[in-house]
Amino acid sequence: MSKVLIIGAGGVSGVVTHKCAQLPEVFSEIVLASRTEAKCKAIAAQLDRPIETAQVDADNVPELVALINRFKPDLVINVALPYQDLTIMDACLETGVHYLDTANYEPEDTAKFEYKWQWAYQEKFKQAGLMALLGSGFDPGATNVFTTYIAKHYFDEIHTLDIIDVNGGDHGYPFATNFNPEINIREVTAECRHWENGEFVATPAMSLKQSFTCPDGVGTYNIYRMYHEELESLTKHFPTLKKAQFWMSFGDSYLKHLEVLGNVGMTGIEPVEFQGQQIVPIQFLKALLPDPASLGPRTKGKTCIGCVVKGLKDGKEKTVYVYNVCDHQACYQEVKSQAISYTTGVPAMIGAKMMLEGKWMQPGVWNMEQMDPDPFMEDLNRYGLPWKVIEEPDFDLLP
Ligand code: NDP
Repeated sequence: MSKVLIIGAGGVSGVVTHKCAQLPEVFSEIVLASRTEAKCKAIAAQLDRPIETAQVDADNVPELVALINRFKPDLVINVALPYQDLTIMDACLETGVHYLDTANYEPEDTAKFEYKWQWAYQEKFKQAGLMALLGSGFDPGATNVFTTYIAKHYFDEIHTLDIIDVNGGDHGYPFATNFNPEINIREVTAECRHWENGEFVATPAMSLKQSFTCPDGVGTYNIYRMYHEELESLTKHFPTLKKAQFWMSFGDSYLKHLEVLGNVGMTGIEPVEFQGQQIVPIQFLKALLPDPASLGPRTKGKTCIGCVVKGLKDGKEKTVYVYNVCDHQACYQEVKSQAISYTTGVPAMIGAKMMLEGKWMQPGVWNMEQMDPDPFMEDLNRYGLPWKVIEEPDFDLLP
């Protein structure tokens, strides 16, 4: 029986709130707060049990502290934007409340996400007897747990990791992003980095692609190598990894639009002066694009996200693939959201459940792969994201 405070009221928040509301035996009370309270109320109106809502500016620590002291939650689930991670962690420390998020901190004026800022809170959380669980979405999140699960049950030592994120969904728009457009475009246009022989190697964004055929008839897609935040923590926590890469599928239309928008400066994060006002191009672009939370009813198709690990077992080389397939329309029927928000929101709820049930609770700042994967994997099956294992899959990835 615990009280949670969920901060942020976008696409992911809608799913987390629905999923927590479905489990009153764990999440006995729910408060949903965000910058725009009307969005919290709209989510609350979809639920079949009452929750409280509130307004908060999560960039402002005193406001957050006042909100937390008013509602006295056991845990804060941060599904606002990565820019708010540190202010919410500060407020949790000041009020003595546990913390969970789905994306690592990124300063608003530099498109570079790294764990160093949040890892720097390790001692403070430990000394306060509080836990902060970082990156409890799908990727990062379930992909970290998949990797740990494979390493624990199938290998003596793991050597290569390929995380493959395919979205075979179609929303019918020529260009739209499936989660916050600003965060999505900053991530996709960033220089690619992958782990090779003890260091990160940089290559131009989207410069390496291959074709990947998903299992279970999801289809064949072009996947592009890019940097993704879980590579940083996974290569730190699995030092036997010689190579680790992240791949994501993109359609030709998405890439063409992104190229043109980039060429004309619409994806820039530096403010420009327009008719006497300072505007940030990517923020203006966000205002023009469809709200990701509105894509739910239109999106058809499936996602397929998983991890391919190679390594040694009893002296022999082997390959293991663990993946989940998620259907956009089925998600919409259950929680009024498309599968990208669903695949993020369900692991956020499960991470919170692991903490509140004491299965993962320990003071300090932790990444998902540092926890026992087994109870989390059981709950993925139970709460909407079933997974499968293929030993020796018949596809060949680029070496
Ligand atoms: P949205 O843009 O849909 O929602 C963000 C919400 O945060 C909005 O309701 C917004 O308020 C609110 N917010 C923003 N700034 C503040 C602030 N200063 N104070 C209070 N509330 C604020 O994003 P998504 O739901 O798509 O994504 C949420 C998070 O999930 C992001 O951090 C994203 O990176 C992460 N994510 C993680 C994934 C994973 O697999 N690990 C995958 C996808 C997303 P308003 O409505 O007023 O704008």
